[in-house]
Amino acid sequence: MTAVLVPASLSRMHAPTLETLPGAVARNVERVRAVTDAAIMAVVKADGYGHGAVAVARAAVGAGATWLGVTDAADAGELRAAGLDVPILAWLNPSGVDAAQAAADRVDIAVGSVAELRQLAADAVAPLRVHLHMDTGMSRGGCPLDDWAELLGTARAARGRIEVVGVMGHLPRADEADPGANAAAVLRLRQARDAVLRAGFGPLLLHLAATAGALTDPATHFDLVRVGAGLVGIDPSETVALHGASRLTVPVVHSSRVPAGTPVGYGGTHVTAAATHLAVLGVGYADGIPRELTEGAGVEIGGSRHPIVGRVSMDQIVVDTGDRAVPRGTVATVFGPEGGPVPSVHDWARWARTIPHTIVTGIGPRVQRSRG
Ligand SMILES: *Cc1c(COP(=O)(O)O)cnc(C)c1O
Repeated sequence: MTAVLVPASLSRMHAPTLETLPGAVARNVERVRAVTDAAIMAVVKADGYGHGAVAVARAAVGAGATWLGVTDAADAGELRAAGLDVPILAWLNPSGVDAAQAAADRVDIAVGSVAELRQLAADAVAPLRVHLHMDTGMSRGGCPLDDWAELLGTARAARGRIEVVGVMGHLPRADEADPGANAAAVLRLRQARDAVLRAGFGPLLLHLAATAGALTDPATHFDLVRVGAGLVGIDPSETVALHGASRLTVPVVHSSRVPAGTPVGYGGTHVTAAATHLAVLGVGYADGIPRELTEGAGVEIGGSRHPIVGRVSMDQIVVDTGDRAVPRGTVATVFGPEGGPVPSVHDWARWARTIPHTIVTGIGPRVQRSRG
C-alpha cells in the first residue's frame, strides 16, 4: 500500500485527502445485521474498496462481522499483521496460492476448478481449508456444473492435504432486487451442497449473497453473506440508504476574478457567461476525478455547491464560485456523506455515467489517506 498516513487536521490544509469514516462502516454492518441471521463476511478486496483494507476490516469486525474476504490470499498477510484474527477467505488466486503462506496466515481458499484444486493439493504442506466454488451463473470463476463431480473426486483424493469446509456461489443479478432473478443460483448452490455432502464432506459453510442479496433476498443468505460495497455505503440494489464511508477534500490552490466571455481550461469548452470567480482545485483525472462529466457536476465550498467548469485536467479542476472570492487554502469537499451541498459518491457516479464502485476504487495514489 502506498498510502501516507497524515492527521486529517494537518493534511487538509495542504493536500488532497481521502478520509475513511470507520463509524459509517460500523453502521452499515449493523444495517446488514438487522436483516439477516447469517454471519457477515466483510469483503475488503481492492484495499477495502479504496477505503483502506485494515481500517474497513477493523470497523466491520468491531461491529459484528465474523469473517473477512479478500481476492488474493497474499492480501491476508496485511490483515493478520494488523491483528485481525477472524477467519479469512480468498477466492481469486490467479498465480496460484503460496500454500505454506496461506496455512501460516490461516487463509481459507476458494477453489473453482479441478486444475486449481490439484495444484493446491500438491503444494499443501499443512491441511488447507477449502471452499468449493460453484459457478452459479457468472461464467467468471466457479466450477461449471459439468465439472463438479470431477472436482469432488479430486477433493476426495486430496483428503488430508485439503479439508473441504464450505461451498460458495455468487449471484449474477442480485442488483435487480428481484428474488426471481436469484432463484436459479439458489437452486444450483443447493445442488452443489447436496453433491458435496453425498461425497462424504461436511459440515459445510454455505454462502452465496453479496451486498445486494443480503439486503434484498433472504433466500440467498444461507450461513454467511459476503458484504463489500455495503460496508462503504454502496447498495448495488439501490433499495437501502447506507452511510457513505469516505470524504475527499481538496484545498483551493488558486482563485481569480474573470470577466464575461473568459474561456476556461483546455479547448475553451466553457466560456463564462458573466463576470465571476474561479477557484482551482489541485486534483484531476490522475487522482480519480472522472474526465467525462455530465452537466451539474460540482463540489462543496463554504456550504454551497459550485459547478466544475471546463475540462478536467490531469492535476486540476476549475470551479465557478460566482460572486464569492474563495481564498487560497479554503477546503473544498469533492464528496462526502453529509448530503445537501456536499456531493455523494453516488452523485459522482451519476455525473460520470458509472457505478459508485469505480469512483471509490479509482482515487489515485497521490491523494493522502487519513484512515481514522
Ligand atoms: C466482490 C465480491 C463480493 C462482495 O460484493 P459486493 O457487491 O461488493 O458486496 C462477494 N463475493 C465475491 C465472490 C466477490 O467477488
